[in-house]
Amino acid sequence: MNLPKIGWIGTGIMGTAMCRRLMEAGYSCTVYSRTQVKAYSLLDCGACWAETPAEVARQSDIIFTMVGYPTDVEQVILAPENGVLAGCRTENSTEITENNSPRKIIVDMTTSRPSLAEKIASCAAKKGVSALDAPVSGGDIGAKNGTLSIMVGGYRETFDALCPIWEILGKTIHYQGGPGMGQHTKMMNQILIAGTMLGMCEALRYAQCVGLDVPHALKSVSTGAAGSWSLTNLAPRVLRDDFAPGFKITHFVKDLRIALDEAYARNLQIPGVELAERLYSELQDAGLADAGTQALVQWPKKGE
Ligand code: NAP
Repeated sequence: MNLPKIGWIGTGIMGTAMCRRLMEAGYSCTVYSRTQVKAYSLLDCGACWAETPAEVARQSDIIFTMVGYPTDVEQVILAPENGVLAGCRTENSTEITENNSPRKIIVDMTTSRPSLAEKIASCAAKKGVSALDAPVSGGDIGAKNGTLSIMVGGYRETFDALCPIWEILGKTIHYQGGPGMGQHTKMMNQILIAGTMLGMCEALRYAQCVGLDVPHALKSVSTGAAGSWSLTNLAPRVLRDDFAPGFKITHFVKDLRIALDEAYARNLQIPGVELAERLYSELQDAGLADAGTQALVQWPKKGE
């Protein structure tokens, strides 16, 4: 069977693990990332390197982006000279092109702004290209194990066409509606995470402060009503003094600010997120931008 050719842009913590899963499933991949050394492990496994996002698009049927911030997404997809869309020739609007190959599909898996996902879908449609927003949850572990939750916005038919790929990357895969709705679902996810991270870090500090045997106390609380992904996966890292990312504080601050912007635009108050954004921003300013989000336990750390 002829598998579609994959393009992958952004080979950091998440992108490398996700692209590797596709390669292990037999897909051929062309990759590009800002810092080429970060793609070496994929190139060693047989991925091809492209010099620009546009070149990735020219070599691929389905182009995934997993970069850092909305500004990065805008640059890699919409830059007029070298962006992904610049590398997609204009197709007619039918699902199958003249040479009988399906038209190109862009899938942005970065956590980004819903309004940017709408803009990309609209610009892509003008070129006869399909675009989905498909952010994920499940962390570095989920990316490695293919157990991510994938939240997809865009056209239903395009979502359905990518089912074989979703199943390699994730375990919980849901179509959430039109362009931007995947990102709105991810914002809902990040609002939930804001609460669980505050709870987890305060609980660990309290337990230590009152003299509990913390690992033993965790056995009691982690499987009851207070259990959470954060508690199961991140509390053990805190106890080992392991503050490597996982999920970087700088990316969480970005997400919390997107959630706040979306809420404020609708006159919605979300004070828990405001608090999380303030505490995480203080840690970011104190030099912990690239630490994992479990470093919230170190607040109020002061910069050196
Ligand atoms: P990361 O390790 O920083 O990876 C992002 C990669 O994209 C980096 O290698 C970066 O290049 C590259 N990149 C950024 N801008 C680029 C550009 N303009 N052109 C080409 N490459 C570019 O971040 P991550 O942890 O994989 O997260 C990626 C996204 O997924 C973020 O939006 C994050 O919020 C989201 N997310 C992360 C997790 C998690 O647990 N890590 C979970 C769910 C969602 P450099 O190497 O030069 O910086």
